Amino acid sequence: MKSEKSKYIGCMLGSAIGDALGKQNEGVNREVILKRGYINDYGRAPEGSPGEALREGQYTDDTEQMLVLAQSLIACNGFDAKDFANRIAKWGLDIRNDPSRRRLLGPSSSQAIEKLNSGISWKESGSDVPSCGSAMRVAPIGLFFNDIHEVEKKAVLSSIPTHKSKSSVAGAVAVAVAIRCALDGCDRVEIIKKTCELTSNHEIALANKIEYSLELRNEVPDTVLPQLGTSFYVYDTVPCAFYFFSRYFEEPRRAVIEAVNAGGDADSIGCITGALFGALYGTDCFPKKWIDGLENKQLVEDTSLLIYEKSHFLLLNSKRT
Ligand SMILES: [Mg+2]
Repeated sequence: MKSEKSKYIGCMLGSAIGDALGKQNEGVNREVILKRGYINDYGRAPEGSPGEALREGQYTDDTEQMLVLAQSLIACNGFDAKDFANRIAKWGLDIRNDPSRRRLLGPSSSQAIEKLNSGISWKESGSDVPSCGSAMRVAPIGLFFNDIHEVEKKAVLSSIPTHKSKSSVAGAVAVAVAIRCALDGCDRVEIIKKTCELTSNHEIALANKIEYSLELRNEVPDTVLPQLGTSFYVYDTVPCAFYFFSRYFEEPRRAVIEAVNAGGDADSIGCITGALFGALYGTDCFPKKWIDGLENKQLVEDTSLLIYEKSHFLLLNSKRT
């Protein structure tokens, strides 16, 4: 099934699947992964890694923040930066008080959440570190808004409360725009072209690197990964996910497996790659065991369905008026 509804659900499930698979390789070197062998199903994260206390099939902060963003969109009938910032601040307190999830929070999000909780405005709270924290959670913006320029605008705003550097903002725009283009059924080149065009409104260097990732699609991962990098910086994670998307455009399962075995920020690379493929092909592109084994599968599905229903309802109403 490749219906629009399935693409909405697929996008958010894909995000959670890539995240839950990738957490097993978060912070692990590619050389170690090659020596040990690829992971291709759920398991525990290695001792000492941020997700070490999580269960098999449990996702990390990437998906948790994506769900917070989706819930804010649903509650507000659109994007309200203040509401989202309040929700993220509250979520941050919850995660800090949970010993099994405490270490998931990256330093940029952590600092921003501290500022938000101390009463600093969402316009000022964001970190200037160019990390990928806003790109990894942005999928619901691409789902909720129909018009690509609206997607761009709201992706920018969704980044600011925690990540206000122009690179992080550009990364959030890139992922959200690509998701909207994938939903709309654009082909590989169209998706990357449109993504780069709107990303370059915020940062040309990131747009150029995403464009370069398309050029690299005929090269094998071990040639490409040292060039693109796999760190938590948005310059690495986002072009890296686009590379896997472009290279394995017709093989979503393979793409996700390769992405989550890239090492480095493997959960975020996996999360973005999974979201892109789900938006393009719908739920059927993922093996059933990945869907069934995902923790909170029902919550992710129900939330994406609410996003689908609400965005379509608002679109219909806007056409009537
Ligand atoms: Mg994570």
